[in-house]
Amino acid sequence: MRDKLESFIKEFVRCFNEKPEFAGTWGEPIFAYADARDPLFPDLKRLIGEHHKLPEEIMPDGRTVAAYFIPVSESIAASNAGGRYASREWAAAYLSTIDLIKSIENGLEHYMGLSGWKISKTADHRSWDPQTMRCDWSHRHAAYIAGLGTFGLNRGLITEKGVCGRIGTFITDACIEPTPRPETEYCLFKLDGSCGICVTVCPIAAIDLEGNYDNKSCMAFTEENAKFFESLGYADVCAKCMSGMPCAVERP
Ligand code: SF4
Ligand code: SF4
Repeated sequence: MRDKLESFIKEFVRCFNEKPEFAGTWGEPIFAYADARDPLFPDLKRLIGEHHKLPEEIMPDGRTVAAYFIPVSESIAASNAGGRYASREWAAAYLSTIDLIKSIENGLEHYMGLSGWKISKTADHRSWDPQTMRCDWSHRHAAYIAGLGTFGLNRGLITEKGVCGRIGTFITDACIEPTPRPETEYCLFKLDGSCGICVTVCPIAAIDLEGNYDNKSCMAFTEENAKFFESLGYADVCAKCMSGMPCAVERP
C-alpha cells in the first residue's frame, strides 16, 4: 500500500507540473508515517492545547498518520529570498500548492477506496480560527511525529528537501510501518548554535535566538502580503525566514 500511495502522489504532482500554468512549480514529494496511536500525539494537547485533535478523534479506526512534503522548485524558493514582501512567484506557488494538495487528497480518497482502504483528511490549510488563531490539527507537528524532519529556529519543519514547500497529512485505516524520527537536529542553530540567520532576515523581528515567536505580528504581516497580492487570491504569505536560508531547499 505504501508504494502505491507514494506513486499516486508523485504522479499527481508530476502531472500538475506539466500543466503550462504551473510549469515545474514543485519538486518530488517525500513521505513519512506514524502509528496513529504514537504517544506523542496526546502530548500535542499539552504542547498546543486541548483543542488539538488526536488521530482517533478524526478517524476512530485510523491506523496510520501519513505525512508528505511537496517542495517548491529551487527557483521559486530563491525568488522569495530577501526584501520585505514575498515574491509574486512565491505567492502564486502558495495558492497553487493549496489547490494541488486538495486535488491530491480528493483523488487519493477515491484511489485508495478502490483497494478497500479509507482516508480521512486532517485539516484544511485554511481551517484555523481567525479569532483565536488556533487550528485543531497541526500538519507540521504530525509530520514531525512521523519523522519527516525537525523544527528549525524559524519554526518550519526542516526536511531532507528543506523547508520551502508545503506539508500535507492524512489518516488512513491502512497499516503502514512507521518511519523512524531523525536522531539529530537538522537546524544548525539547534544542533550547534551556528547559523541563526533566519532571525536576522525577518522583516518585523518576529523570531529571536531564544526561540520566541510573535505569532500575532507574523500573522498580521502575512495579511499585509495578502493585500499586496490581492490580484492573485488570498495569499497570506511571507517565509522570508525560510527562503534563501541554508535550510531552504535541503537539509543543511
Ligand atoms: S536558517 Fe539556520 S538557524 Fe534558521 S532554521 Fe534554518 S538552519 Fe536553523
Ligand atoms: S514568516 Fe515572515 S514575519 Fe513570520 S517569522 Fe518568518 S520572516 Fe518573520
